Amino acid sequence: MGINVTLTEMMPQIVPRSLDPDIAKIIETYLEKEGINIALGHPITELKGENGKVTSAVFCDGTEVECDMVILATGVRAELGLAKSIGCECGRWAIRVNDRMATSVPDVFAVGDCVESYDAILRSPTISQLGTTAIRQAKTCAQTICGKRSRFNPVLNSMVSKVGNLEFGAVGLTTTFAQQNRIRTVTEKVEALTRARYYPNAKPMNVKVICDIDGTIIGCQIIAEERVAERIDTMTLAITEELTCFDLSNMEFAYAPPVSMVTDPLVIAVEEVSKKFN
Ligand SMILES: Cc1cc2nc3c(=O)[nH]c(=O)nc-3n(C[C@H](O)[C@H](O)[C@H](O)COP(=O)(O)OP(=O)(O)OC[C@H]3O[C@@H](n4cnc5c(N)ncnc54)[C@H](O)[C@@H]3O)c2cc1C
Repeated sequence: MGINVTLTEMMPQIVPRSLDPDIAKIIETYLEKEGINIALGHPITELKGENGKVTSAVFCDGTEVECDMVILATGVRAELGLAKSIGCECGRWAIRVNDRMATSVPDVFAVGDCVESYDAILRSPTISQLGTTAIRQAKTCAQTICGKRSRFNPVLNSMVSKVGNLEFGAVGLTTTFAQQNRIRTVTEKVEALTRARYYPNAKPMNVKVICDIDGTIIGCQIIAEERVAERIDTMTLAITEELTCFDLSNMEFAYAPPVSMVTDPLVIAVEEVSKKFN
């Protein structure tokens, strides 16, 4: 399209909440090949303009990039003023709710981006600003109000996205988050294929599996041109059920050459990480 694009991120990698640096690097390399400039590790501190129109973005180190359009996608934080004004208890980031989506104020419920969720692995409050989380919370809220039994479960923040031809997804903890929370990890990254090796259009699939020191799977990150979401969902189930890499190595996966490999990329990844426990 002839547009000169610079993607900036103040952290030293893109998608820092969901991906480890080595997996993010695959996307960064892809984007650079597509002609996108990537500027990491320096926050933008100023936008300059003339006559009501933006002219440049200035980084904290003084570097200036000329531009005629800026897209800010810097995340969201809940606006807690209304909730606090009626006495709702709030946590560090959001409104505190129980597993039926009730706030601390009787007959006041809250769901979605403005509430705290509970992290299934860390067993501590977190935020899960995803549409999938909001919908499940809304169902629990509606069922509770209608007098039905329903509970909102702790979250794993399972996500998937697509940039250009590349799908990427993640679930559970990254190695970085695990280390920040003093969880010792054993990890492995493999490159497999999305279809049988001899079948046309088989695409590379990168899978990273993160286990705790007992072999329990606590995170997974996947990049490929196709079929990422279904594997993230499989890993979400595996982590929810507290499966180990040894358990998943022995699970059945469906196979036909046009749609999968005889040994699924997930199995290859968990087999490889399992070897590190021997
Ligand atoms: C660009 C983008 C892409 C996304 N893509 C995905 C994705 O692919 N997958 C995924 O799982 N999630 C995705 N999300 C996240 C997802 O959209 C949100 O987590 C989800 O919409 C949160 O639901 P919510 O009901 O809390 O808030 P919203 O959907 O934002 O709804 C809140 C509503 O409240 C209204 N409102 C605000 N203040 C007041 C007030 N004082 N009185 C009355 N009404 C008010 C707003 O106008 C809005 O309509 C994406 C988000 C963005 C921004």
